[in-house]
Amino acid sequence: MGEALNVEKIFGEKVFTVAKMKERLTKKVFQEVMRVMDQGGELSMTTADVVAKAMKDWAVENGATHYTHWFQPLTGITAEKHDSFISHPDGDGKMLMEFSGKELIKGEPDASSFPSGGLRATFEARGYTAWDITSPAFLKESGCGTILCIPTAFCSYTGEALDKKTPLLRSMEALSQQALRIVKLFGNDKATKVTASVGPEQEYFLVDKDLYMQRKDLMFAGRTLFGAPAPKGQEMEDHYFGVIKERVGAYMKDLNEELWKLGVTAKTQHNEVAPAQHELAPIYETANIAVDHNQLVMEAMKKVAYKHDLRCLLHEKPYAGVNGSGKHNNWSITTDDGVNLLDPGDTPNKNIQFLLVLACIMKAVDIHADLLRQSAADVGNDHRLGANEAPPAIISIFLGDQLEDVVRQLVETGDAKRVLEGGKLETGVSTLPDFEKDATDRNRTSPFAFTGNKFEFRMVGSADSIASPNTTLNAIVAEAFCEAADILEKAQDFDLAVHDLIKEYMTKHQRIVFNGDGYSEEWVAEAKRRGLPNIKSMIEAASTITTDKAVALFEKFGIFTRVELESREEIIYETYAKTINIEALTMIDMASKDILPAVAAYTGELANTVIAVKEAGAGAVAQMEVLSEVDTLLTEAKQALSKLIAEEGKAAAITDVKKQAFYYKESVKTAMEALRAPVDKLEMLVDSNIWPIPTYGELMFEV
Ligand code: ADP
Ligand code: MG
Repeated sequence: MGEALNVEKIFGEKVFTVAKMKERLTKKVFQEVMRVMDQGGELSMTTADVVAKAMKDWAVENGATHYTHWFQPLTGITAEKHDSFISHPDGDGKMLMEFSGKELIKGEPDASSFPSGGLRATFEARGYTAWDITSPAFLKESGCGTILCIPTAFCSYTGEALDKKTPLLRSMEALSQQALRIVKLFGNDKATKVTASVGPEQEYFLVDKDLYMQRKDLMFAGRTLFGAPAPKGQEMEDHYFGVIKERVGAYMKDLNEELWKLGVTAKTQHNEVAPAQHELAPIYETANIAVDHNQLVMEAMKKVAYKHDLRCLLHEKPYAGVNGSGKHNNWSITTDDGVNLLDPGDTPNKNIQFLLVLACIMKAVDIHADLLRQSAADVGNDHRLGANEAPPAIISIFLGDQLEDVVRQLVETGDAKRVLEGGKLETGVSTLPDFEKDATDRNRTSPFAFTGNKFEFRMVGSADSIASPNTTLNAIVAEAFCEAADILEKAQDFDLAVHDLIKEYMTKHQRIVFNGDGYSEEWVAEAKRRGLPNIKSMIEAASTITTDKAVALFEKFGIFTRVELESREEIIYETYAKTINIEALTMIDMASKDILPAVAAYTGELANTVIAVKEAGAGAVAQMEVLSEVDTLLTEAKQALSKLIAEEGKAAAITDVKKQAFYYKESVKTAMEALRAPVDKLEMLVDSNIWPIPTYGELMFEV
């Protein structure tokens, strides 16, 4: 037996937690920090100096030499620039480790090399990072040593958000303010804040390091660009929840330990549907901390993989033909006096506040289905959404039998008298207890499913930050709450007004509710009849953020300005074009330098065999057939390669980013598929000793 891990002791070991602040700060300073954390506002410079010193002392005691303002630029990952605590030596050449309040609160990284859309042209290259006091500082250990990381927001000189955190924090405030108006209407005067909570389930693949290193596509694009299906895929359904392999188990153990030390509540782990695919889910927490922690989870997944001679693939679709990876973003809203506004209780039909909240969410999701779809768009996710393994690209809400029945009654009669009960689940085995059954079964095909006391947004990509989906959710629901409160606050007869409003919203927006199979063809046709948008790709979704409807929403709550949204739209096109460009160049490289030469050599070998066999007096019919087949495919592949090179060149020359992105999608991607097809067929024909790259079978089963 190994030494037991004391989880309680190590949890949060690398975090400057509230408890550590309490221990190290005077009561007065601590209280000021708590007040700002809770209610917003700014720390006084004297307080900031004291906090900075305490934070630095703790960090240095734990081995830190540097600090960084850790932020989330629009690349979707995190950024850091390290500064050591070293200060100017005094006259005697003695140096003291220093860290001031000013350095804690504000940083000035050069913003010019981060994506900023049109903003960079219009504004100075100067960027500022500002401490997000609500997310705790932590220590990161790496080859660089130990670094104190301070979660920060990142803005331009003129205050435009250049990151994912700033709009998220703005959306959380908007949601809190508007939700408070709703709970006040129902007589709750105690609540002072409403918080969005998020629990993201993270899927990932593991692959052996040596095999990974032999695949340029995995190294540069994060996914396979070639690869014939392995003889075995996921059809036996033996991987999902299957026994975890030793090597993977050892990885998971280290990953958990790393995450617990960082204060991330890693809770659930299991094998996923595809071979070599796994999932980790943390316990839910405040949205912005959940977003920060999800970034740490993704980072730790990659880092720990290195230690085990593995690589972690977070791409949404590393392998064709088996399931890709996503993130289920579980979302709920809770008052600071402990009421989850999404908890229907046992009798949802009588819970008027819940019904109003639900009606508002139906309205929000229906009106802004396009925005919600967009918030989950990234390049890799284009391979998943609508591909019968993930939710369709069409947004709809799954409510389950019980709530759907309540909504139907309200729409039809204006009154929900009945509520479906869960009943008992009889196991039929005398030694097993019978269970109380939920009133509603699960639905795995819905993009936005009500799961008891939360909504599960299932569209999000595995590699993407969860900031955008949560910013969008908070914003659209804040708007619906605001509009409802505007009406209800003026009502003479509140009970009547709220009743009418629930009925009105549910009637108008019931088209967004769908409880059936989201993967079916019928649903695509049905959704079209209902007028629901079906936005198929990331770049087609991009313009949804700059419609008048979207700008009005985001500007109303100060979440984004029009300029910020326009710059973000531009970044989407840029990101798309750059990503497909890398993929195309990688394919060109692999095909020209590795695959086609190997196949050409193989045809030479086959030709020699044919000659030798014929000389020996036999017919060599089979050998000639293979030779001819391989030769034909090789010609096809060579032509497709030339075409891809030409299309890639044309795409790269286009200067308008939007046009360029569409060209990459329509012409370059098509040319990539045309090259992949003959190469994958060749892989099935060519001697496996000659094939220059590891196969799907090796990549997925040799972990
Ligand atoms: P599933 O069966 O879909 O895996 P779980 O109950 O395991 O569901 O929860 C999945 C995720 O949802 C976890 O991260 C969990 O912490 C989170 N979660 C649970 N309750 C809530 C809630 N009220 N709000 C937000 N997230 C929640
Ligand atoms: Mg789940």
